[in-house]
Amino acid sequence: MQVASEQMTKSKGQMAGGDLQTCNLQLVTCPLCGAEKAEPYAEAPDRFFPKSGELYSLRRCVQCNMVYLNPRPREADSGRFYEHAEYLPFASLQRNRSLINQIYELLRRVNLHWKRRMIIDFWQRKRDDREVASGKYASDSPLDLQSANLQTCRLLDIGCGTGEFLATMKAAGWQVEGLERDERAAAWAREHHQIAISAGSVEQLSASTQQYDVITLWHVLEHLYDPGQALEIIARRLRENGVLLIAVPNIAGIDARIYKSNWVALDAPRHVNHFSLDTLARLGSKHGLTLRWWRQLPLDAFFNALMSEKLAAQRRRGRWVLWPLCLVRAPLVALASLIGGSHTPFSYAAYGASLVCFLEKSHVTQTARLSKHK
Ligand SMILES: [Zn+2]
Repeated sequence: MQVASEQMTKSKGQMAGGDLQTCNLQLVTCPLCGAEKAEPYAEAPDRFFPKSGELYSLRRCVQCNMVYLNPRPREADSGRFYEHAEYLPFASLQRNRSLINQIYELLRRVNLHWKRRMIIDFWQRKRDDREVASGKYASDSPLDLQSANLQTCRLLDIGCGTGEFLATMKAAGWQVEGLERDERAAAWAREHHQIAISAGSVEQLSASTQQYDVITLWHVLEHLYDPGQALEIIARRLRENGVLLIAVPNIAGIDARIYKSNWVALDAPRHVNHFSLDTLARLGSKHGLTLRWWRQLPLDAFFNALMSEKLAAQRRRGRWVLWPLCLVRAPLVALASLIGGSHTPFSYAAYGASLVCFLEKSHVTQTARLSKHK
C-alpha cells in the first residue's frame, strides 16, 4: 500500500486525555489492490465521542470494493485511540467495572466456547473432506484431533489481549502462545493464565523461526495498517496445511448496510480496513492462503445492533422518544444478521455481522469445498 505524500491536518475533538489534540491524517491507496480511485462510503464519528462533530471518511475502492479509512491517522499516533475507558477488549484490566463491562465479560465467556467449538468442528470437517480419502491429509497430521498428537498442536493467537481464548485452548490440551501489542494486557495474561505471551506486533514474527499449526487473528486484521504485509509474515510462520483463522466485522453484513455510518464496527479511527468474504479471500490468496470455510460469531450480531442503536441515538441528541423504536429494531436487525450469516452451500453471499474465516496454507490448488459436508 502506498501512502500519499500529501499530509492533512485535522483537529481532533475531546480525546481520552481530555485535551484538544491535533493529529496528522495521511492519504493512502487501496490496501488490497493498490488503486487510488475510491468512492465515498460513509462519514463516521469516533464512537467514544459521538457529539464531537469530528467525522472520519471511509471510502470504497472502485476496483476491488475494499472499504478503508482514508485519510487516516498516522500509525505512530494510533495508540492514543485505544486509551478510552470503554474500550472493551481490555475490560479484564479494569478494577471498577461498569455494568456494560460485566455483561461484555459474561458474553465473552459464551463466545469463547463457540470459538473453541468452531476450531474443533473445522478439523473434523477437514478430516471428513474427500481430500482426506485421497490421502491429502495423512492420519498422522498434527492437525488431526483423532490422532494422539493433539499435544503437539501449536497455536499462536495474535492480538491475544488478556489471553482468555488462549487459556480456553490450553485447557483443551493445545500448546498455546500469544502476541499482544499492549504490554499491560500481555503482563496480565502471563500472570493470570501462565501462558507464554510476547509483547509486540506482527512484524516481530518475521525474526522468528517457530512454525505453527494454527494462527488466530480474532478481530485484529481490521486494525492493522498493512494487512497484506501481516499475512505475508504470518504465512511464513504456518506449517504446510496449517490454518490461519481470521475473524473480522463483515462490511457486507445486513447490519452494516442498515446502520451505515452508525454501524458500531466501523469503529473509526481504530478500524482502518473493512472486509467482506470476497475481499478477505482475495487478500489471503495473494499470500498463498486459501479460504476453506467460514462462519459467524452469533453474539456479534446482537452486540453490533445494540451498540449501533446506542450510537445512532447519541448522535440524534435529544430525540429520546425514539428509544422504544430502537429497542424493537435492534433485535430484529440482529436476527436478520444471524439468518443472513447462516451457512449455506459455499458461496460469497455472507451477510452476517461478523466473519470467521479459515484460510489454509497450501501450495496445492484447492478445489474441494469443506461446506460440501455441511
Ligand atoms: Zn482496491
